[in-house]
Amino acid sequence: MKKGNIFTNFAALIAKDTKAQNESKKTIVVIRIILISIIIYFSLTISVGKVISDVGSAVFFLFFFIIFAGFFACTYRFRTIVVLWMFNIGMFSFILFNIRLFGWNIGVQHFLMVMLLLYFFSSYKRHKEKFIYAAVLCALRLVLFHIYYKRTPVVILLNKENEILQSINTIAIFWCISIIAFIFSRDSQELESKLVDYNEQLQKQAKTDTLTGLCNRRGAKDYLEWLTRGGDENKGFCLCICDIDFFKKVNDTYGHDFGDEVLKGIAGIFKEEMTGRRLAARWGGEEFLLLFSENNGDEACVYLETIKRRIKAMRIEKDGYEVGVTMTFGLAEYDFSGDAENTLKEADKKLYQGKEAGRDRIVY
Ligand code: GH3
Ligand code: MG
Ligand code: MG
Repeated sequence: MKKGNIFTNFAALIAKDTKAQNESKKTIVVIRIILISIIIYFSLTISVGKVISDVGSAVFFLFFFIIFAGFFACTYRFRTIVVLWMFNIGMFSFILFNIRLFGWNIGVQHFLMVMLLLYFFSSYKRHKEKFIYAAVLCALRLVLFHIYYKRTPVVILLNKENEILQSINTIAIFWCISIIAFIFSRDSQELESKLVDYNEQLQKQAKTDTLTGLCNRRGAKDYLEWLTRGGDENKGFCLCICDIDFFKKVNDTYGHDFGDEVLKGIAGIFKEEMTGRRLAARWGGEEFLLLFSENNGDEACVYLETIKRRIKAMRIEKDGYEVGVTMTFGLAEYDFSGDAENTLKEADKKLYQGKEAGRDRIVY
């Protein structure tokens, strides 16, 4: 129980937010993890200093241990950018003195890559500075190489000691780079997938009618365009424009909200009947467009009969009243002219004929 508390407290300490409101919490958290990793790395190298029984080396690592522990404390007091530069300067000094003491071969210069990566990921801005920083680090590495590659180090390490330090350095550097890359890439990947989802949602919303949940006029037009472009392997389709009979009277008698309930009830029937490759859309007001892809007029008529019957049987209740409506349907087959305008006009004409002839019917 107590152990759990220590871990939770430690995690909370690492995850503590920055003081400044406008700074990224993520960057300071990564810096803290890297600082702790490096503090652990110093602890290991202090032991190695002891192992090689060179007190000077142990003191050297102890000195940087204290400096970096100080930096860790500073992450709770100073701005992220200040801590980042303290880290950069501290790290570079460590690399420089380390190479001077133990030579080029123990691989500590690769910590420059940790510095580079941390700087690049630490901000979405400062593009120019990032490349200047990269160029400076590259130049410094080249200078260090030319100065120290062949120079005899202050402490001559035995092969075994060299191997140990080289291994500790390799592990520490790989760990630091992995942590930085993991945390920052995970975040941007998550953000990217959220954006993709959000875009899909927006696109869907843009084509959906809010009241009925059916496809709206725009969505129906897109689908029609796709069909007339041969999207359905030019199999042909037919479409129906339908309109509620005497709907104005329903609104006038029972109110607009009640009218909305009627529209939702009708949409519910469309959703159940117009499945698969058939599409129902709210074409406007109390008019709907039904698209029967891969169906000819006769087949569509069969579906329409069921829809017409179900709508007529539907009852919407309010204040003890039960209200029913009927609809008139105008059906037309696509003429393969490459555009649905004529077919829409024809369906509209048929609808008008149906209204003229007394409503509650399918005209084909
Ligand atoms: P007809 O049989 O000739 O179609 O008669 P109608 O009364 O249905 O035709 P009209 O075009 O005169 O009336 C349509 C009505 O539909 C008018 C308008 O208030 C109503 N309406 C349009 N959109 C909505 C809506 O979103 N909600 C509600 N409640 N009513 C709507
Ligand atoms: Mg109308
Ligand atoms: Mg009407």
